Amino acid sequence: MQHQIELAAQSVGRSALDLTLIVVTKFHPASLVRELAALGVHDVGENRHQEASEKSAELADLNLSWHYIGQLQTNKARQVAHYAHAIHSIDRVRLVDALATATVDSPIEAFVQVNLTDDPGRGGAAPDDIELIAQRVLETPTLALRGIMAVAPLPSEESADSAFERLRSYSDRLRALDAGATAISAGMTHDYAQAIAHGATHLRIGSAITGNRPDPGYAR
Ligand SMILES: *Cc1c(COP(=O)(O)O)cnc(C)c1O
Repeated sequence: MQHQIELAAQSVGRSALDLTLIVVTKFHPASLVRELAALGVHDVGENRHQEASEKSAELADLNLSWHYIGQLQTNKARQVAHYAHAIHSIDRVRLVDALATATVDSPIEAFVQVNLTDDPGRGGAAPDDIELIAQRVLETPTLALRGIMAVAPLPSEESADSAFERLRSYSDRLRALDAGATAISAGMTHDYAQAIAHGATHLRIGSAITGNRPDPGYAR
């Protein structure tokens, strides 16, 4: 995978050194995360609090950074703050305010998630709300504004190229607010090359690395 990422970066004149690969390990057992860590993986992504909490506790002996990438209920926010090094799904002011009351050793890296579709159920803030949420993050000592995050729409809705081009314009708005908020969390198994072409800095890749996810036993 590292090689494919390098090729995709080279083809658009970028260096893979500027990309952080987050291996998404959701639904996989802690033992698999341990194997990945032995292979040099440092950044792992999870999208459910219960599962992430258990795995991070079981693997506390490893030097891993846990990235929370799923929709986050306000009443779970303080608990996620116990183990998350970064939260990629900051999509409303109320969630920021809940995280403001968390106890943290150092500020959690915060990505404002923007919804690239018109379906509010997909998670992410409406693009109009980016500045409002980002401003609140900047006022919150438990959080450090890092950048923007999004999941591409379905290919039938909008091409990844077009969606990630829009995402870059939202990133520009964020940087206008805070020059340090340069990160763009985008790109999954099927669209990482397009994300790299449009400036992604944090790739969230699951199945291309781990193989298909085990059936979690519930609809998702
Ligand atoms: C599951 C997931 C990923 C990884 O998806 P793959 O297609 O397996 O690479 C990335 N981002 C988010 C938000 C996810 O939920």
